[in-house]
Amino acid sequence: MRTVDREMILTQRIESEQQGLFNDINLWKACIPPGTVIRHHTDQFEQFCYWMVDQLEGSFSHKPALWPNLDQSTFKTLIVSVLSGKWILLRQVIQQRSSGTPYLKTLEELDGFADNCYQRLRSVLQSKEFAVKGISESSPLVYLGPIARLFLFDEEAPCLISAPFGAANDKDEHGKELSRQTIPHEVGHAIFEQISGLPNELKFKINANLAGTTTSKKQGLIQSVILNWLEEMLADMTGTALAGRAFAESASQITIMPEKIVGITDGYHPIPLLRSFVHGWVLEQLDPESGLEFNQQLIKLTASYIDRPFESLPAVITVTMKEVKDELLKIVEQVWNCPLDTLHDSSLGALFQAVFNTRQTSLVGQREHLPVWGSLSGKSEDVIFRLVGPGKPSSPLPGLPLYLDAVCCPLGIPICCGQ
Ligand SMILES: [Zn+2]
Repeated sequence: MRTVDREMILTQRIESEQQGLFNDINLWKACIPPGTVIRHHTDQFEQFCYWMVDQLEGSFSHKPALWPNLDQSTFKTLIVSVLSGKWILLRQVIQQRSSGTPYLKTLEELDGFADNCYQRLRSVLQSKEFAVKGISESSPLVYLGPIARLFLFDEEAPCLISAPFGAANDKDEHGKELSRQTIPHEVGHAIFEQISGLPNELKFKINANLAGTTTSKKQGLIQSVILNWLEEMLADMTGTALAGRAFAESASQITIMPEKIVGITDGYHPIPLLRSFVHGWVLEQLDPESGLEFNQQLIKLTASYIDRPFESLPAVITVTMKEVKDELLKIVEQVWNCPLDTLHDSSLGALFQAVFNTRQTSLVGQREHLPVWGSLSGKSEDVIFRLVGPGKPSSPLPGLPLYLDAVCCPLGIPICCGQ
């Protein structure tokens, strides 16, 4: 009798968690008008949750041997908790767009900018010359928050781009533009994350190119630091191709750092002082006159810092920021020129040139067709892999390590094994 009661209570609790999630989705749906882009994605998310719950429950009952140490109730709780984690992200995007919020106009404008950047880059990538397939049709949705870039799961779901609150500050037009110009860089990340293999291919080829040319240990060390910046350099180069001088100008202001940290890198981004040299180099290829002017300004702006030491190397080696800059620009040139299999043997330089010359727009809401997220076909293993999403340490999902240990490891999904 006691066992039955326990089971009943447990089932009720889990049902209530799940019901609560669906109720919340419906509450927010009621706050956004039908026919809008955000309403479309909210409907898709709801359908997706129903589908996911059905599928995973079914897969648990059909293959119990895959999860010998897990009760069905634990399994269901985990699914609801992962779905809730995803919902929290989308929910804040919806909240900022609900009826009566002061941000509607700003977000409409930011969505339009993100849409223009995203669809321009996507259409060039899908052209015959680059022949890249499988990039989500959904333009990103922008929300105000900390700098971040996140995907919801399912390939057709939109990614979410966070822009600083300054982007909605009508009292400071200049600051607003600076905040807005973070979007082209984030669009670069959003797109290249979907072209599996490109960052690795690029790193491999640049590494191979450098192997024959490195003359000293010091040069080798500088190059190895720069290779860790490749993904961010790629996003910076993309941002410049998408928004040209406006992007380069705003970045050169955003990256002005306090005196004490001027020569320091976090390991993944080029030193802020040097990032602008990447923008300037790219701008000079795309629009020589404007690029030259920008670079002359940049030299003046950085003159008193460029001979200072680069502080993110072991103390025994003295390297100036100018030395790092020279190596950085050599590598940027290689990144620009290197033919890539993932781009149908074309180069990133050709891609950026084409993107810069393409000015067509496709405003959010004006497109006749809004992509359906679709259901995830295939095996339950795939579903779980996608449900969990990229297993990055910064993942905001609740209970992620538990989920990975409990569900993915028994399936042998590599993402849980510490990559
Ligand atoms: Zn970035």
